[in-house]
Amino acid sequence: MVTILEGRTLATQIKNKIKKEVIQLKENGVVPTICVIQVGEDPASTIYLRKKKEFAQSVGIKEISLRFSQEITQQELIDKIKELNADAAINAIMVQLPLPQQIDEQAIFETIAPQKDVDGFHPYNQGKLWQGDSQIMPATVRGILSLIDSYELDLVGKNTLIIGRSVIVGKPLASQLLARDATVTIAHSKTQDLSAITKKADIIVSDVGQANLITSKMLKQGVVLLDVGINRVNGRVVGDVAFEDCKVKASAITPVPGGIGPLTVASLMEQVVILTRIQKDDR
Ligand code: NAD
Repeated sequence: MVTILEGRTLATQIKNKIKKEVIQLKENGVVPTICVIQVGEDPASTIYLRKKKEFAQSVGIKEISLRFSQEITQQELIDKIKELNADAAINAIMVQLPLPQQIDEQAIFETIAPQKDVDGFHPYNQGKLWQGDSQIMPATVRGILSLIDSYELDLVGKNTLIIGRSVIVGKPLASQLLARDATVTIAHSKTQDLSAITKKADIIVSDVGQANLITSKMLKQGVVLLDVGINRVNGRVVGDVAFEDCKVKASAITPVPGGIGPLTVASLMEQVVILTRIQKDDR
């Protein structure tokens, strides 16, 4: 029997835990605060940001939204982030991607102070992750780990394949699965014969953004499938895994929507609380 790895219930549990932690912090005179920056008016970004704002409000985290025009220069954005870095009332800073062409994402990642880097994209935090300090990590990675923990999925010595090598998911996730004793392989757009690798995998995490990339004939019996992809096909949201086809072969599988997605926002807010605590303890 396949287990459907359901993210919504877990996201609600995480939400309740955050609410309690925020109450405690407020009792100690600290209001966890995230500042979210949007550049331009990308419609998908606007939807994601609304979800983040609603979640923050529902757990008592203060959310400050700053929106800049599509024409903002890189230097202007950097100067604004530096102001926020210096503002003790702001615990977490997030810049919504994608950014317009004139702005180098990497320069922005490197400007956000590592101790306020709620997305975990700063090279310092990514390096710390690889060295085994897992306090700050990209929200999707935290969400995947929470799901793995919640269902007590066994990683030790397992052939674990991550498809996708982004700094948002693939690379930092590899560090965390390695830290949990999985045997990790990363596949990407230049990988030859993906199917030969998927057939050997006990666990597959797919973060590509291509519907039906994974089909049942590519899998071994009993595989665990964690689907990060979000794709719109004929007005429906689907993942990278052909769900109905693959669930017959899998021992566990995430649905899309309702798998990793809800955990990403919850994990981001969990991280606001973690950053706030670290800053409070440092004072
Ligand atoms: P990205 O473009 O940065 O990364 C995609 C990766 O897929 C690249 O590393 C590329 O090498 C790899 N790739 C492309 N074609 C491939 C192929 N044929 N075979 C193997 N690998 C291939 O994208 P991203 O920002 O990491 O997002 C990927 C997908 O995940 C998107 O659908 C996005 O919407 C989704 N996503 C979902 C969440 C969530 O919370 N569920 C979070 C982040 C991203």
